[in-house]
Amino acid sequence: MNTLYKLNIIPRTTWTARIPTEKMNYLSNINYLVIHHTTFDGDYKIGEDAKEVVRDIQKYHMSKKYDKEGNLIKDKWADIGYHYLISKDGQIFEGRSKKFKGSHAYGLNNESLGIALLGDFSHKEIYPTQLKSLVQLLAWLSQIYSINTSKIIGHKDVLSISLKGTITECPGSALHSQLPFIREKVEAILV
Ligand SMILES: [Zn+2]
Repeated sequence: MNTLYKLNIIPRTTWTARIPTEKMNYLSNINYLVIHHTTFDGDYKIGEDAKEVVRDIQKYHMSKKYDKEGNLIKDKWADIGYHYLISKDGQIFEGRSKKFKGSHAYGLNNESLGIALLGDFSHKEIYPTQLKSLVQLLAWLSQIYSINTSKIIGHKDVLSISLKGTITECPGSALHSQLPFIREKVEAILV
């Protein structure tokens, strides 16, 4: 690929993102692209409605969560945790600015961007339109940051890179087994 192609990324203003609540740390090194699935209510939505889900995820990430006994189980974050989100119909949403360290992959947030696929891919593969957008986004980011496709990983793979990684099923078994194929598709664009 000789020139960067222009990706159609839906900016924060278009999905009416909230303003971050506090100052975030800058991301100085981007060595990995980490793939997630969202398993979030309504994450099957498409078209205009997909913006609603992205707003709901941001709201969730920016809220404190308590268990039944009232113990804090998740602190609020300054902004949505992911840098990009991709809906079932292939729309790419800008999440947290890629200037800033995300909150998506404990142990690797310092050196990665987080890309979330809207849906639950434990048992089913991602949708063809979603796959197409994912591959384009990964190729674009790999080129900008000179990232080798071997550094395109699933959330659960963080554990094999960082001791601080957490045990998770994310991005779902079905999507995780698609990763070698996705890397190949990205490579095909990059040559
Ligand atoms: Zn994840």
